Amino acid sequence: MALVHNLGFPRIGAQRELKFAQERFWKGDVSTEQLLSTARQIREINWQQQAELDLVPVGDFSLYDQVLDMSFTLGNLPERVQGLEGSELDNYFRVARGRSAQDSDCNCVHAGEMTKWFDTNYHYIVPEVTANTVFSLNPERILSQLAEAQIQLGLAKVKPVIIGPVTYLWLSKAKDGSDPLALLDQLLPLYSTLLEQLSDAGAEWVQIDEPVLVTELDAEWKLAFEHAYHTLKANRPNLLLATYFGTLEDNLQLVCNLPVAGLHIDGVRGRKEVTKVVDWLPAHKVLSIGVVDGRNIWKTDLNRVLDWLEPIAVKLGERLWLAPSCSLLHVPVDLDSEREQGSTKPATLDSELINWLAFAKQKLAEIQLLGRAINEGRGAVADQLADNQADISSRRLSERVHNREVKANVGGITSGFGQRQSAYVQRAAKQAERLKLPLYPTSTIGSFPQTAEIRKARLAYKKQELTEAQYQAQMKAEIERAVLEQEKLGLDVLVHGEAERNDMVEYFGEQLEGYGFSRFGWVQSYGSRCVKPPILFGDISRPAPMTVAWTQYAQSLTDKPMKGMLTGPVTILNWSFVRDDQPRKESCLQLALAIRQEVQDLEATGVNVIQIDEAALREGLPLRRSEWQHYLDWAVNCFRISANGVSDETQIHTHMCYSEFNDIIESIARMDADVITIETSRSDMELLDVFEAFEYPNEIGPGVYDIHSPNIPTVEQIVNLMSKAAERIPAERLWVNPDCGLKTRQWTEAIPALENMVAAARTLREQLAHGQNDIKQPTAEPA
Ligand code: GLN
Ligand code: ZN
Repeated sequence: MALVHNLGFPRIGAQRELKFAQERFWKGDVSTEQLLSTARQIREINWQQQAELDLVPVGDFSLYDQVLDMSFTLGNLPERVQGLEGSELDNYFRVARGRSAQDSDCNCVHAGEMTKWFDTNYHYIVPEVTANTVFSLNPERILSQLAEAQIQLGLAKVKPVIIGPVTYLWLSKAKDGSDPLALLDQLLPLYSTLLEQLSDAGAEWVQIDEPVLVTELDAEWKLAFEHAYHTLKANRPNLLLATYFGTLEDNLQLVCNLPVAGLHIDGVRGRKEVTKVVDWLPAHKVLSIGVVDGRNIWKTDLNRVLDWLEPIAVKLGERLWLAPSCSLLHVPVDLDSEREQGSTKPATLDSELINWLAFAKQKLAEIQLLGRAINEGRGAVADQLADNQADISSRRLSERVHNREVKANVGGITSGFGQRQSAYVQRAAKQAERLKLPLYPTSTIGSFPQTAEIRKARLAYKKQELTEAQYQAQMKAEIERAVLEQEKLGLDVLVHGEAERNDMVEYFGEQLEGYGFSRFGWVQSYGSRCVKPPILFGDISRPAPMTVAWTQYAQSLTDKPMKGMLTGPVTILNWSFVRDDQPRKESCLQLALAIRQEVQDLEATGVNVIQIDEAALREGLPLRRSEWQHYLDWAVNCFRISANGVSDETQIHTHMCYSEFNDIIESIARMDADVITIETSRSDMELLDVFEAFEYPNEIGPGVYDIHSPNIPTVEQIVNLMSKAAERIPAERLWVNPDCGLKTRQWTEAIPALENMVAAARTLREQLAHGQNDIKQPTAEPA
């Protein structure tokens, strides 16, 4: 009998209950007890939904982030929060967010660095270590969740989930430049103790996640795996070593031979390897195959999976387990919410589209169906398989998916589409002439606070409680407010504030043909932040301008340059659920043509500065370096197609966040945007080190403060950061801006921060005028 299980379940709740509880808690509106009680309820519901499985994950729930949880489990708190007043929960949120609700100013600390979880749009808090880090086990969280789950599900079904020691260290950043791997020997006894405690508590299996095994590993990291698992094999629980997000490639032999009781592999992205693993895996080991895509929302073609799986099941017998490819954290909770009548939100997915989809709960049902088909034969589930087949065929043949004209337009793209008229140096001169900006020009990344009133208005408009005219009037009032505030602040290049946008990708997707929208398809991005990725289901076209009217209105309110604000094709693609029936590159070209039309329309209405956000460019990078160049080539090409249909005088900006882009700087430079704004403040301008070696040819705005934290940066901090930047990039090519959009902040936080930023720019200009800055000379020749 094949066993069915799950690796992890979304923890935000079907209606984002966790998000709302967190935010109320941080504001001081609910108590710790109330927050914890919401968390308990979500876990209970999640376990209920998984109760039919043979094994259910426990410990996958998190109040903010599973990596931060592991840091706390290992007693690895950054020094700066140790010894501070308050509860452990206060400290937990201090590391997560920079401070906790109860803190007075003196207890503000800077937040832990946040970065992308492998190639997903989930962000984790990077564990901080030094050569002197001393770990100490704190198993309370996982043990108490285990106890909770056992009461609900019984002893036999629960499977604790932890991050494995090697992946934990691999994700860690050494603050003193030491080698995190040197801490492995200190870490392993803690893992051993933890495993023993889990065993004492009744856990027969423990899922130990080591996703780093799908990346290219140096010899020392491979050795670390051998060492770690030969040590941990002495412990009682059966270990299910979980790998996901890709293929094992040259780690395959290593992984098959690690002394664990079971192995989970990604059978969706790693399909081509499964036969090899089946052959190589020692005969006493369980093989869990991820057969349902945990990274996408399409219904699985069950018959096709069974055609492939049945012979494997014959070979493996009892040793075969079935699961989603990875934790379901990366998909929305429940498709049934989309069907609900009488909801407060208007329906957006029609029933045809809904029939093509599966969210977390539906994916578990697919796993169970597959399990029954394997264990009892397809006949036992013939009706369900026939229904599935009908939905799969309907999608494959649909005219909503295939649009001939779009395919022809993509076929008509020539190399000229990606080429500006002149090189940067010539363009820059023409732009300077037209824009007349001071040195160290100040700007923001696009959005201003999305207040409760804005969200209320948008919702009312969607529910048709506000007329088009009423809604327009209210959004215009918001734009006016944003423009007024920026003029008061003395910023140089203004933005309209993005009040009308729910989300930087959804906003565009909603106006493009080929996109579908869920009402409740939320996925956690980090902490309390959730995104609702649009569903790219068909060929893409742009029936009408998407941003022109708002931008024009904003420009009419000011003499300062107004920056048009678009999301780039690569980011739209990377933050959408994309088609699995054509290569990502193909969908991206279609998006590039749509954005190009928008850029040209903006230019035609007199917008001189246009920002095309590519916040997620890096997120599309394949996990394996050997595959990077191919991706970067088509991604950069798509950006250039979208941006470069304008005259020299039009200044193109792009923006990226959380882009540790040192390793892709040449591709970034090839995007050839006139100005790039990037995230740097959280890592103290460290990201700019790359400019020591690489002469970035165009202008840069290194983010001077972290918009994810409510802390207000001081003038001095900003001047210091910019001075660091000026050591690497000629001051003439530097901009001063926050590190991302301000939509998650309050006006009361945004204004003082920007006041300080503008004051800092003034100080920098004065310093320049008085020759206090050692300025690098601009390089003469463009790349
Ligand atoms: N223009 C967007 C904003 O300011 C960019 C957001 C992002 O990079 N994530 O909100
Ligand atoms: Zn950003």
